[in-house]
Amino acid sequence: MNASASRHAIIIGGGASGVLLAYQLLHRSTPELRVTLIERRPDIGRGLAYHTGNPEHVLNVRVANMSALPDEPDHFWRWLNSRDGVPPPCPDAFCFVPRRIYGDYIASLLTTSTGRSSHRLTVVQGNCIDVCEDAGEISVSLEDGRRYAGHVAILATGNDVTSSSPYHVDPWSAQPSSDIDPDAPVLLLGTGLTMVDRVQSLIQDGHRGPIIAMSRRGLLAKSHRRVSPFPIEEAEVPFGADISRLLQWLRGKIDAHMAQGGDWRSVIDGLRPHTQRLWRELPQASRRRFLEHARAWWDVHRHRMAPEVEARITDALYTGRLTLMAAKMIGTEPAPSGAVVRYRRRGQREVRSMEVGAIIDCTGIVKDPMASANPAVRSLFERGLARVDPLRIGIETSPEGAIVNREGVPSERLFAVGPLTRAAFWEIIAIPDIRNQCAELAARLARIDGTSPAEFVAASQA
Ligand SMILES: Cc1cc2nc3c(=O)[nH]c(=O)nc-3n(C[C@H](O)[C@H](O)[C@H](O)COP(=O)(O)OP(=O)(O)OC[C@H]3O[C@@H](n4cnc5c(N)ncnc54)[C@H](O)[C@@H]3O)c2cc1C
Repeated sequence: MNASASRHAIIIGGGASGVLLAYQLLHRSTPELRVTLIERRPDIGRGLAYHTGNPEHVLNVRVANMSALPDEPDHFWRWLNSRDGVPPPCPDAFCFVPRRIYGDYIASLLTTSTGRSSHRLTVVQGNCIDVCEDAGEISVSLEDGRRYAGHVAILATGNDVTSSSPYHVDPWSAQPSSDIDPDAPVLLLGTGLTMVDRVQSLIQDGHRGPIIAMSRRGLLAKSHRRVSPFPIEEAEVPFGADISRLLQWLRGKIDAHMAQGGDWRSVIDGLRPHTQRLWRELPQASRRRFLEHARAWWDVHRHRMAPEVEARITDALYTGRLTLMAAKMIGTEPAPSGAVVRYRRRGQREVRSMEVGAIIDCTGIVKDPMASANPAVRSLFERGLARVDPLRIGIETSPEGAIVNREGVPSERLFAVGPLTRAAFWEIIAIPDIRNQCAELAARLARIDGTSPAEFVAASQA
């Protein structure tokens, strides 16, 4: 390995996960470690979640839980209160600020507070198209031909979005409503938090036509309330039980808590410290059943809307501007005004159709990594450096975040953080989980000397 690559960590993806990891690496490692952060967007720290400029697109986690640093829980709240000439957005940390502000906060971690270590950080704008392991070093290539060599590389490429069909409008683009006839019916596929964002944007952009949000169950996310997590001891959690028993136990816990005047949210939040272990020890057949049958229920209780967002959505439902539909889309055909959609309502056999001006795919992110359009992820598969987990929800990683290759061997040089690792952890899409993961991985990586990757194994066991 050449000298410059021997203490050089390359992070691919400069969204929240990549920035959090870079911050932790710079703060936890020895001064010899250099970090290169590769991001294809013009800005770091934003990614899919925090690039929105719409002030109605607020966080779905309260400020109090959104610190980027696990050992400083009020870091984000303090940052919000320390901005020159900008008054605090709310009287206390139980509030949901625009996600754009959160992107500013994440970016500020590397622009303002690295201080003495900033010379060790290089931020590169570019699209990573290839990652390979060669002669004991990792080399990373960008679309424009630039190439970087390091002793380790970490994929933080985040959420992969679904590719659009000709009738679909991209829900993530900055102006998704601009090409839509304001009087035409619009079909939103999916009824999760992406749909909630889009309804707000459509209404704000002056859309007058009906908005229909369709998903198999038609479930809408619940909303937050000012409640504290109900403490659940590790010893009482039935780790390793099958999904039916687990859900029965959880429902019992919720019923008992509510019978005493408590709120179900406290129990769901109280389970959070245990969810990764629950997933790890859940039998494979139960994981599958969870994904097929219980996941939609879990998601609406776990990933909740801010109360002010709930008020806007309730108003849209009440006034008939928004309709929720439990149905399955069967197919689409072009029509003069947009598309004809054929669908079947839940529990019915009859196939109906409706004409819409646009379809916005809000089913969220691509869960099957083999369907990824991301060239960096694809190159790992093509080179046999990664493999898909059996449930096809992520790439396979070790509990330490090492990417597992085609032969089933965890890499000593290639790692992943954030949503890409959901197969191993399941709950690894929100900041409270990602910040711990990044801090833990940085602590391990900081102990590796680039000349001897086998030390990672020892460091992992330390
Ligand atoms: C709409 C939405 C709202 C959310 N709201 C919240 C919330 O309120 N609170 C919360 O805790 N979590 C929220 N989340 C969860 C969110 O996934 C995480 O908080 C976090 O943003 C994940 O960050 P990430 O960096 O892993 O992924 P991403 O945000 O997807 O970022 C990945 C980055 O990698 C870059 N990239 C990808 N491939 C390449 C490549 N080949 N070359 C170069 N760059 C590349 C992308 O451009 C992107 O910037 C939300 C998610 C979404 C989608």
